[in-house]
Amino acid sequence: MIDTLRLTAEEAARLLREKEVSGAELYAAYRAAIDERDPELHAYLHVCEDEGGEGIPIAIKDVIGTRGIPTTAGSKILENYVPVYDATVIERCKAHGLRVLGKTNTDEFAMGSSTENSAYGPTKNPWDPTRVPGGSGGGSAAAVSAGLAPWALGSDTGGSIKQPSALCGNVGLRPTYGTVSRYGAVAFASSLDQIGPVARNVRDCAYLYSIIAGRDPADSTTVELPEPVALPEGEDMKGLRVGVPREFNEHEAIEPGVRDAVQRAIELCRELGAEVGDCSLPSSVEYGLPCYYLIAPAEASSNLARYDGVRYGYRSANGRDRLEMYERTRDEGFGEEPKRRIMIGTYALSAGYYDAYYGQAQKVRTVLAREHAQAFERFDVLISPTSPSVAFELGSRSQNPLAMYLSDLLTIPSCMAGLPGLNIPCGLSEGLPVGLQLIGPQFSENVLFRVGYALETAIGFDAVPTRLR
Ligand code: GLN
Repeated sequence: MIDTLRLTAEEAARLLREKEVSGAELYAAYRAAIDERDPELHAYLHVCEDEGGEGIPIAIKDVIGTRGIPTTAGSKILENYVPVYDATVIERCKAHGLRVLGKTNTDEFAMGSSTENSAYGPTKNPWDPTRVPGGSGGGSAAAVSAGLAPWALGSDTGGSIKQPSALCGNVGLRPTYGTVSRYGAVAFASSLDQIGPVARNVRDCAYLYSIIAGRDPADSTTVELPEPVALPEGEDMKGLRVGVPREFNEHEAIEPGVRDAVQRAIELCRELGAEVGDCSLPSSVEYGLPCYYLIAPAEASSNLARYDGVRYGYRSANGRDRLEMYERTRDEGFGEEPKRRIMIGTYALSAGYYDAYYGQAQKVRTVLAREHAQAFERFDVLISPTSPSVAFELGSRSQNPLAMYLSDLLTIPSCMAGLPGLNIPCGLSEGLPVGLQLIGPQFSENVLFRVGYALETAIGFDAVPTRLR
């Protein structure tokens, strides 16, 4: 019997290698789990048929293009879109024998923090189906947490891997900007978008990162990794300097239960031999969010201009001429959140306002990057909560965009600075997972994995949702 709730990808690889299970049996076990639990959770938008092979199954966020498999980005405007090529990350997964289980739910064009903005209905949190799984990659996070996939790919613009991983009790990495190809992925905000792994533990997360990372000639923003990915083994933190940024740990929006769990983990860092010290990043939490909500919509308004009813997916039948067809297609095809962002972004980029908004935001972005770089002169990693709150009730923020945007208060600053971030679960509050965020300098993934693994081992968090044990 394969227990998909507990099987790690590393263990699955061993079972396959030693021929204790076949690829078909493994794939069928996940399909059975999906049949059993996905009607309630709705983590998947599309489930694939077994096409054979002896590799580990994987779930893919539906913003990543898959040849011959529908790719909707959670939007009606792409409802009939079936890519004719694989994204580079998919090619790399396939080259390692990985087999796509299906495409996971996402906020429309990855815009959101709860997966409630999906045109195809929300995903539920496996720990408590009255709560959101986070977003935008709530589908990938819920699938991994509920044993509907051993691991998954997500995408993170301002927190969409880290925050859902926190709310569902997974390990998720937002890689250094430029280390993973976006070729073939649906673009949201190109100076921020990164693809990355979601897994059940740190070693699986590192393993999947090693498969997808590295230079791709088809994405000119990518670079070769300066050193190979190392699967973490050591259980101590000797010689490491851990910074505790005040503004990220003492913000009033942080729930007491979240703060307590992260504080205990900070204590553990000391016990594991790390040198722990306070620091301050005064601008990051205060200006990160407003700055992001100028830059990300500005880039989105440009990226989403391509959905015109001609080249992809949905086309309105109601236009009397070409111009009206464009307008109706976009009016009927996009949901509220993409429309809101297209309008904000177009405004921020318009001639009279460009300097005041977009130009100013770019300058603030430089300040945030510099502030982080200064902190890394003294510390190897920074630690804080990933999300100020545990998973919130479905519907509780969906009518209030500003409340929803605040979910990413602590994940956004390092994204703006192009830095990698790892979420690991560090305990429960109100019976729901609490995630902690480890931020490092560019290309410090191996350090994040080392710290994450040492903490994970010391914390001993059980990643299986209580109600499914
Ligand atoms: N929640 C943030 C937003 O709505 C981040 C989303 C993401 O990382 N894709 O833009």
